[in-house]
Amino acid sequence: MRARALLGAGAVVAAMLVPVTAASAVDDVNTNKLRKSVTVNGILAHERALQRIANNNDGTRASGTPGYAASVDYVKKELKKAGYKVTEQQFEFPYYQEVTPATLSQVSPSTVPYETESLQYSGSGTVTGTLVATVNAVIPATPAPSSSSGCAAGDFVPASATEPQVALIQRGTCTFAEKVANAVAAGYDAAVVFNEGNPGRTDLLSGVTLGGPAAIPVVGASYADGVELYNATQAGPVSVQVGTNIINETRTTSNIIADSPKGDPAKTVVVGAHLDSVLEGPGINDNGSGTSVVLETAIQMQKLKIKPRQQVRFAFWGAEESGLLGSEHYVASLTDPQLSTIYANLNFDMLGSPNYVRFVYDGDGSADPEGLGGPAGSAQIESVFTDYFAGQGLATSPTAFDGRSDYGPFIAVGIPAGGLFSGAEDLKTAEEAAIYGGTAGEPYDACYHQACDTTNNLSTAALNELGDAAAHAVMTLATTKSGFFEDGSRRAAPKVAPADGFMYKGSHLIR
Ligand SMILES: [Zn+2]
Repeated sequence: MRARALLGAGAVVAAMLVPVTAASAVDDVNTNKLRKSVTVNGILAHERALQRIANNNDGTRASGTPGYAASVDYVKKELKKAGYKVTEQQFEFPYYQEVTPATLSQVSPSTVPYETESLQYSGSGTVTGTLVATVNAVIPATPAPSSSSGCAAGDFVPASATEPQVALIQRGTCTFAEKVANAVAAGYDAAVVFNEGNPGRTDLLSGVTLGGPAAIPVVGASYADGVELYNATQAGPVSVQVGTNIINETRTTSNIIADSPKGDPAKTVVVGAHLDSVLEGPGINDNGSGTSVVLETAIQMQKLKIKPRQQVRFAFWGAEESGLLGSEHYVASLTDPQLSTIYANLNFDMLGSPNYVRFVYDGDGSADPEGLGGPAGSAQIESVFTDYFAGQGLATSPTAFDGRSDYGPFIAVGIPAGGLFSGAEDLKTAEEAAIYGGTAGEPYDACYHQACDTTNNLSTAALNELGDAAAHAVMTLATTKSGFFEDGSRRAAPKVAPADGFMYKGSHLIR
């Protein structure tokens, strides 16, 4: 899940999503035995194994590190022991690691240090040079986001060919990647991107990504610091220093895939959880919890000799924290006929948050201002979860498909999706605390993406409730006779436009 930056609730863009059409429900399936067999103790046994792996590998299980390789070995061993044939799908990805924190300071006419952070996939190096603002910064900011600073090549004054120069760019409209590509094309040696200045967009620009390696150092700034620098450039020459110290290199990582021995492979339910953590911590809630629930469900389905009507493909994705790269690689590796054999994706990313809410992905678009949900069939998947919880007397809340997790590449090709989420860095509202208990005004997971995301950072009540619901949904979709659609079919929807409208690519904001 994404990093620290917060976002106004109305700002979520999901332009590629399609309106929901009426359709029939899947069958009621008795999932009692499986739910009784997927226990908190069974889930915690995997969590403790993942914690030990992190302890033995510098406290991380990030893709491209030995902790990930050990996590892969553990999941493979457990699946094989349960009787699965296991496939490891390797792929190369851009590994990114910040060695020391980024710096940003004004060198002249004043000496001023600024709070800063590198953008994910920033280039590495120290550049001291003249700061040049794009021609179209919006100062003061308008009430609603409106800046398109740096979105067009012509927004940049061509940089000096001989003297180092640093571009000053305001957030807004297009992606950070597009802005920085334009700065590089205009000849700049580094870039500072400051927040846009609208409500919710004033703090230090943080938790944002360039999506792939950039040629120059790129750091963020708050709106106030950006304005101060902008005004200085309008008064006379300003020199700044931008410093980043980063490892950007290609490494190999992998997805782990195991198919149920029985079930129709022309109707496959892909049940996924990302296996990697961030570099900063062991990732026991994010996403040891989803990993452990999916793994335990796979094991118990074999033990109970459950014969699915549809094939179930259990998938443990790599490099989610680098931008959904494992699930993206998997979907991209399939031909159109292969994609059409997948009629659903279930995604489980964070199921044990200490201050949890029972979030269900908003397949029917009921919580979206424009009523946009997931691809056709997603509403029915959402109902599988909400009907189940309602039957248990447990409340649920919808959460948007905004590109934050591995369902993204699936819904981008029109595959219906759904799943659960217990909450990350956002703060629990008073309304939610009244329904779910816990603490209003505190994050759902105060250890999100930190070293303290350990086995002490889990709600066993959340693991119990959401683990049972996950097992229920897997078995229901695996054994239902009826499909999602009124004609009884289980077809995947045709390919739709890529998810250009998302605010996120995995753990980071992209615009
Ligand atoms: Zn996650």
